[in-house]
Amino acid sequence: MGKQWKICVLPGDGIGPEITRQAVKVVKTIAEYYKIPLELEEALIGGAALEKEGISLPMSTLTRCRAADAILLGAVGDPRWDDQPLAMRPESGLYSLRAKMGMYVNLRPAVSYPILSDIAPLSKKGDFDLLVVRELSGGIYFGDKGVREDSNVRSAYDIESYSEKEIERIARFAFQMAEKRRKEVVSIDKANMMETSRLWREVVDQLASQFPEVSLRHIYADHASMELIRNPKQFDVILTSNLFGDLLSEEAAALTGSVGLASSASLGYTSNGIYEAAHGSAPKLAGMNKANPIGAILSVAMMLYHTYSMELASKAVQWAVMETLKHHRTADIATPQMETTGTEEMGDFVVRQLQEILPSVVLGGANTPKEE
Ligand code: NAD
Repeated sequence: MGKQWKICVLPGDGIGPEITRQAVKVVKTIAEYYKIPLELEEALIGGAALEKEGISLPMSTLTRCRAADAILLGAVGDPRWDDQPLAMRPESGLYSLRAKMGMYVNLRPAVSYPILSDIAPLSKKGDFDLLVVRELSGGIYFGDKGVREDSNVRSAYDIESYSEKEIERIARFAFQMAEKRRKEVVSIDKANMMETSRLWREVVDQLASQFPEVSLRHIYADHASMELIRNPKQFDVILTSNLFGDLLSEEAAALTGSVGLASSASLGYTSNGIYEAAHGSAPKLAGMNKANPIGAILSVAMMLYHTYSMELASKAVQWAVMETLKHHRTADIATPQMETTGTEEMGDFVVRQLQEILPSVVLGGANTPKEE
């Protein structure tokens, strides 16, 4: 029997609860298979927390998250709070959680699924498998910001600032990830326009000498956003700042066919992590059993890899998803001729596939399925 897992589940708003339920089914299947005692605790965040406790990240939630090995988060965001100041919006709960847990890395993988080539916008560009490593705790989102008024003219400002230390730690993480992959880092900045980017380049160049097996290229962010569409398979690890990472990881997610497929992990100095589908709360789909739960389920695969160091179990979840997609699709990834599968049923199909795949994974990876 393995060491106990302690996971805090934060369903959040909109489709968050529905997709998180599917992710939890997958966690339970893995824990049961490996005979790992599992402690799951649920807590409030976002609009759900604002409604019940008047604050988007209650102290009780933070305490539970700090006591857990990993956090599984649904999504935050509810139009009912849209006209509120930032501090009183559901999204502030997620930003505070990431900051208070010391998460400075955001990992956003984007992988092409050949089986979805009929709906993926750039399927003729060839298969791609890339990882965006986005700096998460600094940059323009956390710099000084405000609105000022001079002689009746209002202006607003957001300051971008990065220290050498902040750049070095995220760059180190990217190089370490590249060492386990195809050993290529592309660092994306605007060194032609921004002082922070010039420092970024300098620090990344210096660090590169510690990773002689990893190749390094620098690309400007505007050019990178074009290259990502023109030829996504050229990228292995993309290293970038908070702002550029926010934009480019969303673009990369769209290349796969739907944001509903996109997973993410937010990590810090420990093995603790926040794992969540990379999309938002999709309020219009809430409660309709239509949301795609694959991004949430693949976030469990990331949790197995990063928090529990279970590489094979992580692969098993990814394989189970691939197998499921051969036969079942939610509405966002179906063609008009196809019958669609609901959120709950999609979760059940992944679990069934996983139960079939796990024994062969434990036998050393034999008989594991191939992509079509
Ligand atoms: P969104 O990601 O919620 O939705 C964008 C589009 O993708 C919509 O058409 C939606 O229906 C679709 N979509 C998203 N997830 C899907 C899924 N799993 N299956 C099928 N379709 C899916 O982004 P938005 O509409 O800009 O934002 C809605 C709310 O979510 C806002 O309040 C926003 O602030 C919040 N938000 C939260 C997070 C987060 O929790 N990490 C991230 C982004 C946005």
